[in-house]
Amino acid sequence: MRESEEENMLFDPTLGLAREFDKHVTSEREAARRAEQSSNYWARCPRCGRKQTRENLFSNGCFACAWQGTEEEAEMAKIKRASTSRGGGTMPYRTTCPNCGAQVLREQLMESGCYICGWKPK
Ligand SMILES: [Zn+2]
Ligand SMILES: [Zn+2]
Repeated sequence: MRESEEENMLFDPTLGLAREFDKHVTSEREAARRAEQSSNYWARCPRCGRKQTRENLFSNGCFACAWQGTEEEAEMAKIKRASTSRGGGTMPYRTTCPNCGAQVLREQLMESGCYICGWKPK
């Protein structure tokens, strides 16, 4: 009689369910851990460059600078930033001498005056 009782305990359907549930939770954690290791889990904010979970960045916005956008927008911002940092365009350190119109270095003009006409800012 005792033996069959023990067997009943082992095959308790609720126990079995609990075990299944446990397995489910661990596999979910395992999946999250694996996802964390894969590069797809992380994303960098295109504005401030903070590393965070992709999910957070695209669903809640950046925790640091509050940037919000879609993945495509992030890609676009990345491309835009890369192309502007590569140079070209305007050169802010150059200026035009107000007296003769020559292209001079702003710093040089401020410090020692125009190298062509000798004009100096007061
Ligand atoms: Zn940011
Ligand atoms: Zn000049």
